[in-house]
Amino acid sequence: MTCAYSCEKMFIDTHAHLYYNDLYIQLDDVVRRADEAGVNTIVCIGTDLSSSRNSISIAESYPNIYATVGIHPHDSKDAPSDYLSQIRELASHPKVVAIGEMGLDFYRNFSPIDVQIDIFTEQLELAKELELPAIVHNRDADDKVIEVIRKVGIHYGVGHCFSSDIEMAEKLLELGFHISFTGNITFGNNNTEFVLKKVPLESIMLETDCPFLTPVPNRGKMNEPANIPYIASRVAEIKNVTKVKVAEVTTTTAINFFNLPV
Ligand SMILES: [Zn+2]
Ligand SMILES: [Zn+2]
Repeated sequence: MTCAYSCEKMFIDTHAHLYYNDLYIQLDDVVRRADEAGVNTIVCIGTDLSSSRNSISIAESYPNIYATVGIHPHDSKDAPSDYLSQIRELASHPKVVAIGEMGLDFYRNFSPIDVQIDIFTEQLELAKELELPAIVHNRDADDKVIEVIRKVGIHYGVGHCFSSDIEMAEKLLELGFHISFTGNITFGNNNTEFVLKKVPLESIMLETDCPFLTPVPNRGKMNEPANIPYIASRVAEIKNVTKVKVAEVTTTTAINFFNLPV
């Protein structure tokens, strides 16, 4: 689609955890500051059953906030045996736009690897069945993530907070996935910048992953959706395009990806 109204100052924060207390206690102000910064739409990402429910209730309270429902790899070990039917039911809510975040985290290994793989696989299968995009978290698990996505045969998702190498980026793109970048691209990491340079702008989305990963120049402060323009500025510098272009393209991509009403 093209923007029927001005996209040039319009951003979408495609990955925020607004139910964390520091954000939640001042959510009206967080949303207002985002709006003033041109971040008009926010996707609130669940990481377990209770935060998935919290994401939905936040989305019910604000017209331009949407929710996702899923189990993070860290929380896999605590998922109840009927978690999948609960996720399925939550996903039928009209403001739920994706399944996740889900995935594999072999860096921290807060949940046993076999449990992580089972719960990732089951949620990918559910996303495929429901024709919803999968929000995929990956840390130090590139090969296994690709193997599971291929096995399930889903071609609709995003590798969020991308920090892997260009080979991993190319594999995800070949599978029809998008890639999203956080404040991590403002940290001066040559590898992540190299990947960003190579990946087509049309395949990229922007996210804060707030309250974590505050971008430069706000390091040390709480991260929030209003910081998206700093990430967009860095994308513009690295890809040598205007910030307006970054806003237009990434916003259009996110609207289509999450099938958001315009
Ligand atoms: Zn994550
Ligand atoms: Zn996250």
